[in-house]
Order: sequence, then structure tokens, then C-alpha cells
Amino acid sequence: DSFDKMGLKENLLRGIYAYGFEKPSAIQQRGIVPFCKGLDVIQQAQSGTGKTATFCSGILQQLEYDIVQCQALVLAPTRELAQQIEKVMRALGDYLGVKVHACVGGTSVREDQRILAAGVHVVVGTPGRVFDMLRRHSLRADNIRMFVLDEADEMLSRGFKDQIYDIFQLLPAKIQVGVFSATMPPEALEITRKFMNKPVRILV
Ligand code: AMP
Repeated sequence: DSFDKMGLKENLLRGIYAYGFEKPSAIQQRGIVPFCKGLDVIQQAQSGTGKTATFCSGILQQLEYDIVQCQALVLAPTRELAQQIEKVMRALGDYLGVKVHACVGGTSVREDQRILAAGVHVVVGTPGRVFDMLRRHSLRADNIRMFVLDEADEMLSRGFKDQIYDIFQLLPAKIQVGVFSATMPPEALEITRKFMNKPVRILV
């Protein structure tokens, strides 16, 4: 039960320890390695269990940093959560030189477009603004290989189902999908059945 034994990049480990984490939480112990292997992962866990660092580490481990194009997309139900995930991603990936941007409603569209055009590795956002950026081709989907739905149940209960489906349609067909959710209502299960390939299930 140590971050050292997960086969993580040295500079990712440095970021994890610099952030103040000493030992992985239960969900991190079980979830980081499968995610790093590129597997589809369903993690049913409450917030507060360390799920953010689980998918952030999995993404940061797999990015190709020389290619400054969006390779990972994370969706969250609220602006605040998306911005919080952006901060964690940036902190854990500090020594890797990760470029992250939060695409959320209520901010300048032109500023989003400017930052995306300059190049990012990861986009974290709310479904509405992310869909808007994809539709305008301000966010290019061609190189996206990892897709995470955080608080999937919460996104569905806020009425984001259609937008999530629309976003899936715009992403490459072969893509790693991670679904994080405290509960698994029928609509969440439907997403896992439609869009995931032999997912590993982790219940914490
Ligand atoms: P989350 O479930 O991702 O919202 O994380 C809940 C809280 O636990 C956050 O404040 C994290 O910074 C903290 N946390 C996550 N993983 C660890 C860890 N391995 N060691 C200590 N604190 C952690």
C-alpha cells in the first residue's frame, strides 16, 4: 500500500508527494493501476474517498507530454467541481509540465478558445461548455484517448444526459472511459453498457 509500487512515473510520484499525500486511499490502491493500464473503470465511491487523485493520476501517467493536444477529457456536474479538479490535476502534474484548462459556463468563450488554441493536454469541464467547444471545433477531439465522467449520477440528475451522449458521439470510438459515481441509477448503468468495454468495477 504505497504509491511507489504502482509503476508511476517519477515526476508523477514527486507531484503526489509534494501535494502532501503519503499513502494511497482504498480507492486509489484499487483504482490507479487499472486506470493506468488503459482499462475502462467504474468506481462507485462517495466523494471524500480520494477519487479525484485516482483519475488524475491515471490520466497524468498516460499522457504524451510532447504532444500538446487534448488527450484527456473530464466532465463534472458543476463549475466549482471542474475547477477544483483542474487544480488537483495541475498540482499533481506540476513536475510533468501538464497543461490543463477548465471549460465551464459563465466564463468567456473567447478566452476558452484562446487557451485551447495555444494547446492543452487535458480539459476538465461541465458538459454544456465542453460540448460547445467541441461543436465549434475549438476543442479538437481527434487525439482524445481518455474520458472521465466524475459524479456521473449527479450529472444525470442535473439533466446532462443528452449532452453527455452528444459528447460521446463527437469523441473517437476507441477511447478509455472512467465512470465515477456515488450511486448507480439506471441511467448511469445505461452509459456504462453503451459506452464502456469490459469495465473493471470497483466498489469502495
Ligand atoms: P476526493 O474524494 O477526491 O474529493 O478527495 C477527498 C479529500 O481527500 C481531498 O481533500 C483530498 O485532498 C484528500 N485525499 C485524497 N487522497 C488522499 C491521500 N492519499 N492522502 C491524503 N489525503 C487524500
